[in-house]
Amino acid sequence: MTRLSTTKKHSGESIKKEFTFRFYAELNDFLPLKRKQKAFVQSFKTPITVRECIESLGIPLSEVDMILVNETSVDLNHKLKEYDYISVFPVFESFDVSAITKIRKTALRTSLFVVDAHLGKLAKYLRMLGFDTLYRSDIDDSEIISVARKEKRIILTRDKLLLKSKEVRHGYFVRSIEKHEQLREVVKKFDLNSQFKSFTRCMTCNTIFIKADKEEIQNKVDKDIFKIFNEFFYCKQCDKVFWKGSHFKRMEAYIRELI
Ligand SMILES: [Zn+2]
Repeated sequence: MTRLSTTKKHSGESIKKEFTFRFYAELNDFLPLKRKQKAFVQSFKTPITVRECIESLGIPLSEVDMILVNETSVDLNHKLKEYDYISVFPVFESFDVSAITKIRKTALRTSLFVVDAHLGKLAKYLRMLGFDTLYRSDIDDSEIISVARKEKRIILTRDKLLLKSKEVRHGYFVRSIEKHEQLREVVKKFDLNSQFKSFTRCMTCNTIFIKADKEEIQNKVDKDIFKIFNEFFYCKQCDKVFWKGSHFKRMEAYIRELI
């Protein structure tokens, strides 16, 4: 990274130091024209954290996903040093992510997805890992785009045309055509490992499971199942009960392999 200028001495002030900032993609919406889409220098009194700088530059923290200081991923409480170069990325930015996932530690966001009508299996697997994933076999492109914008969901699709729409902000073209490979690809691409909440969400409908009291579900499961198992989960939407049987063990092994 190039330094844009050298430190100025501000007479009569406590120690003010210069930092270079670069905000990416839609974060530029919050900046004045002269600071949009380019690196700029700003002085702050030190010590100061990344959080304080970003807030005082007028960027809502809810919009920020990742912060790099001198190309290293940091959290909001990171204290800045003179000449630091701070790159700030929005909730998700497709064209830059591939280059930076290597150095990312943990994303600040939770990843939400909307999946096109041809990727139903991938949707189920993402739900299995606990990711909020919208999918319907009859969902059309305009609906995908509008829900993605409204709910800040990442669009996953094998349709390049859909991603070319000007309305799409956060989208990813899934390369693989095989469902297990697709899952592996998406997990890697978005660095999802640290966000797994496996078996907390219904694979069929995306609803979060409720832990069910054994007595409450007695009439909903087979007698033998009821005898053997003690832990049950319930999907309100599907009115279905789940337990950690052999199917669960297989999926658990699959997830371990994925990690
Ligand atoms: Zn369900």
